[in-house]
Amino acid sequence: MAQRRSEKTAARIAADISSGKKSKKRPPLYRLNALEYKAWPMLVSMNAKKFLVDPAKCIGCGQCVRICPKGNIHMVCGTPAIGADCYQCLSCLQYCPQKAISLGGVTEKRERYHNPNISPELLNQSIIHID
Ligand code: SF4
Ligand code: SF4
Repeated sequence: MAQRRSEKTAARIAADISSGKKSKKRPPLYRLNALEYKAWPMLVSMNAKKFLVDPAKCIGCGQCVRICPKGNIHMVCGTPAIGADCYQCLSCLQYCPQKAISLGGVTEKRERYHNPNISPELLNQSIIHID
């Protein structure tokens, strides 16, 4: 479902670009962008505190540790501990094979999604680690 939606959106964007279509929307105000840029690290670190790892589901495979571009996840006694130095890329959550990671319980029952053409191994090879 999510995949179909993304493919439709991507096809529409590609067609717009190919035809040189110009958006009628105004670009966001610079000052708002600047504010968001300043507040973002604080918002992200607040959100990162909401990460939960379900010990009943986690198999300690370490995929979340390898996939985190920020080096923000460490194994502690076989269980991942997620710190606050996070980009909110959500790769850990979306790529966990056990759906053991959730964000504040909100994502508990939500569908997980990642590009089916990008395996965790492929992502690991091309990932830019910023730790
Ligand atoms: S990817 Fe999921 S199952 Fe594997 S260690 Fe991380 S939380 Fe546990
Ligand atoms: S959301 Fe991204 S940056 Fe944050 S802990 Fe997970 S993988 Fe790392």
